Amino acid sequence: MTSHDWELSAACRRPGADPDAWYPTTGQTADVAKKICWARPSRVACLEAAMAEEHPANPQRVRRWGIRGGLDPAERAEKQRRRTIAADRAATPTPTN
Ligand code: SF4
Repeated sequence: MTSHDWELSAACRRPGADPDAWYPTTGQTADVAKKICWARPSRVACLEAAMAEEHPANPQRVRRWGIRGGLDPAERAEKQRRRTIAADRAATPTPTN
């Protein structure tokens, strides 16, 4: 099993899945896609793959687009921002007196 085997059973890639649900245009809701994602056991692996691809430090960084791992681009950006803050805090030495 490879680290991306979860893609083989991706609900968004199954025949009959409406790709537009994962790539809503302005004014359309992503609720249907998000609901499907959140019911998938592979959601976390999918989200982590998206976060890695979109990470600012990734030299082959891809643009945030569409629903991945149950989150829209803005939600993934916010999650990345929070992770960066947490990592910075963890790396900051605690002052000693
Ligand atoms: S979590 Fe959502 S976007 Fe990711 S593979 Fe599953 S259905 Fe597709």
